[in-house]
Amino acid sequence: MSAQRIGVLGGTFDPIHYGHLFIAEAVRGLAKLDRVLFLPVGDPAHREVHASAHDRLEMVRRALAGNPAFAIDTTALEQRGPVYTADTLALMRQKLPDDALSFIAGVDSLTVSRWRRLDEVAAALERFYVVRREGARSEDVAAIVADLPEDLRKRFVVLDLPLVDISASVIRARAKAGASIRYLTPDDVARLIEDRGLYRGA
Ligand code: ATP
Repeated sequence: MSAQRIGVLGGTFDPIHYGHLFIAEAVRGLAKLDRVLFLPVGDPAHREVHASAHDRLEMVRRALAGNPAFAIDTTALEQRGPVYTADTLALMRQKLPDDALSFIAGVDSLTVSRWRRLDEVAAALERFYVVRREGARSEDVAAIVADLPEDLRKRFVVLDLPLVDISASVIRARAKAGASIRYLTPDDVARLIEDRGLYRGA
């Protein structure tokens, strides 16, 4: 197979929702990516997770069904200890030596906590696509990448997509309260959350 242009959307997916699916599909179209790999993180360095890695992976699997351009990459689930994206990308590079990788992330994921080794992350990528998010300031991205050398800084591209104000936190809170989560996430995901009673005690 010839070299592909691949988008990588990392996240806890706790749970996956239409915000994730929309940005993956929209960036794929704008950036003319061949496919998008969803990269669930098992033990993220900066935050706690609620559902097990097993349940989160199953939810991602269900959500991606039906889009042949979407697939799961389990590299970050297999990493031990706190997971840093620079290490994950180095491992992915071994599996995908010829493909051009681009990261996809919401503005909040760059602005809420400082990324360690952002220079290494950028160096491993063709582009880092940053998507606007309700409550996060896309102007702050420039300050975050300001210290990087120019050739790496230029890899960050802020895309102006329609805002989808859905978050995993809102879904967890609604599931806990017994409120409907239908239409925030694909039906098969909502069903799994209900059937397994996920987030009831979140
Ligand atoms: P939580 O509410 O638990 O913080 P989340 O909804 O932000 O979770 P994550 O799995 O942390 O979900 O997100 C993975 C990536 O997708 C991050 O880069 C995040 O910024 C981005 N993202 C998630 N939801 C949206 C959305 N509605 N619009 C744009 N980007 C999003």
